[in-house]
Amino acid sequence: MDFSRLRLSGFKSFVEPTELHIEPGLTGVVGPNGCGKSNLLEAIRWVMGENRAKSLRGSGMDDVIFAGTGKRPARNLAEVTLVLDNFERDAPAGYNDHDTIEVTRRIERESGSSYRINGKDVRQKDVQLLFADAATGAHSPSLVSQGRIGALINAKPQERRLVLEEAAGISGLHQRRKEAESRLRGAEGNLTRLQDVVGQME
Ligand code: ATP
Repeated sequence: MDFSRLRLSGFKSFVEPTELHIEPGLTGVVGPNGCGKSNLLEAIRWVMGENRAKSLRGSGMDDVIFAGTGKRPARNLAEVTLVLDNFERDAPAGYNDHDTIEVTRRIERESGSSYRINGKDVRQKDVQLLFADAATGAHSPSLVSQGRIGALINAKPQERRLVLEEAAGISGLHQRRKEAESRLRGAEGNLTRLQDVVGQME
């Protein structure tokens, strides 16, 4: 699965609808300071379901929406679509009946985000798992932002392990394990309450 196109509208400095073609191989983004290079990388992370303010260089979720300039009013919504090539049919199970997979995230001021995969409404979790299973999640080592290489060299072994797990495509399994554990805890709690009720009735 390769990224083939990125569409942005109202996202950070990309106020006008913009479409970028991503060619196969290594992609570098060059340009003068402040032209929006990092915003592009943040758009890719954001559409993959990233919510951490640190990764998105803002304090609130609405900070990704174009905030206006002296000449242009602020926008109320931002949308990013990432188009993935799936001609090789190597997408995770459940997504292999299309040649391309279009993942869209949209945010409206004060209303939060919504997600679509090939036009169908999905949960944030579905998008995060799609990318985690494909080993290209929002924390993927394939997205190299400024300072990342230095941070990796200085990282603790535990932090490096997370990078390797992401590259190996097993972070989706970790997410599922966490969910299963929390469901198990819920079920154990219900069982204890049930035993109390049965105890009172006896
Ligand atoms: P550098 O090389 O200096 O790191 P860069 O090319 O990576 O710069 P970015 O950091 O991606 O540039 O873009 C910064 C620009 O994006 C700034 O001009 C900033 O005002 C603008 N920007 C960021 N968030 C928003 C927003 N919500 N609304 C409007 N403009 C924004």
